[in-house]
Amino acid sequence: MISGRDLHPHARDSVPLMHHLLDPNPEPLRLWLAERQLPAYRAGQIRKWLFERRADSLEDMTDLPKSLRADLAADFRLWSSTIARHQSSDDGTEKLLVEWPDAQRVECVLLRDGARRSICISTQVGCGMGCVFCASGLDGVERNLTAGEIVEQMLRLARLLPDHERLSHIVVMGMGEPLANLNNLLPALDEASSPSGLGISHRRITISTVGLPPAIDRLVERNCQYHLAVSLHAPNDELRNELVPVNKNIGIEAIMAAADRYYEASGRRLTFEYVLLGNLNDQAEHARQLASLMRGRTALLNLIPYNPVAGLPYHTPSNRCRERFVEILTQAGINVQIRERKGDQINAACGQLRRLTPAITPISLPS
Ligand code: SF4
Repeated sequence: MISGRDLHPHARDSVPLMHHLLDPNPEPLRLWLAERQLPAYRAGQIRKWLFERRADSLEDMTDLPKSLRADLAADFRLWSSTIARHQSSDDGTEKLLVEWPDAQRVECVLLRDGARRSICISTQVGCGMGCVFCASGLDGVERNLTAGEIVEQMLRLARLLPDHERLSHIVVMGMGEPLANLNNLLPALDEASSPSGLGISHRRITISTVGLPPAIDRLVERNCQYHLAVSLHAPNDELRNELVPVNKNIGIEAIMAAADRYYEASGRRLTFEYVLLGNLNDQAEHARQLASLMRGRTALLNLIPYNPVAGLPYHTPSNRCRERFVEILTQAGINVQIRERKGDQINAACGQLRRLTPAITPISLPS
């Protein structure tokens, strides 16, 4: 926010000062143009620069008159964040630590896998779900990200690609519980799927959740086609209450029922995520319980060997436990896979980079 003496001569109460151009709400720009009796098609030109032509600044939007670019720059900012850190891994994974003007930071990741160019984005600063093995949840939740901040992560990551490559998939699995910030996530995903936005279909967008039934039902009401991934991490309430404390107020049965409603409404195969923690939830009895929970559901079970977090007392499961776990599930007819961990060299478990990085001078990427 700029101070009163910095007021631009054209500033009006109806347009917030230094509006975020990446905010999905088109009204501020529409009003701003209308107040100056400028043609509405300028908004479409700007949008094209943001999503398709990957402008890094208003200056780059060379088919807008210079005076218009200068006036826009007084009232709108393109980027809200700076890049506090940019890490790359040998497997092509790149990770950004993004810092917002209030000094809060989140992580987002670009993953290269064959022709796929997937990104993993955050929805909150921190997380309130308190999963005991997760770096993101260690300090609780600070705040929700705005819709513009969620879109900004997508566009920052898209700009890491060469011009001829496009993002193909989005996974909302970074820091935070996406369904706890649905009001901001949904408009951001509308931008991702819009043909004039990133043009990524619902079916290539995955929302990962610990399972908040009322929010899952909102997705059902909205007729969403997103791929839903429910993080179980335990096959019974007693263990899940320990590992995912928010479960105490919900319970696995209610989560499975909500997931079933989503499947019935969307027809999309469900995914269940299960982080395998050595000697904790990786025993044969857990595999058998998990098999009965999954039986009869059109679902994929993703097993994720734990990625250790400094300072937390949890371990990667042994190969022997892993193999036995998979074998029990496979023999029970469950569709199961072990998920490859990408970006191990760059602390790819959510929240790790943020915790390991002290306040440092922003580097790389245009801002
Ligand atoms: S695992 Fe996900 S839901 Fe759980 S605390 Fe971490 S970010 Fe939040």
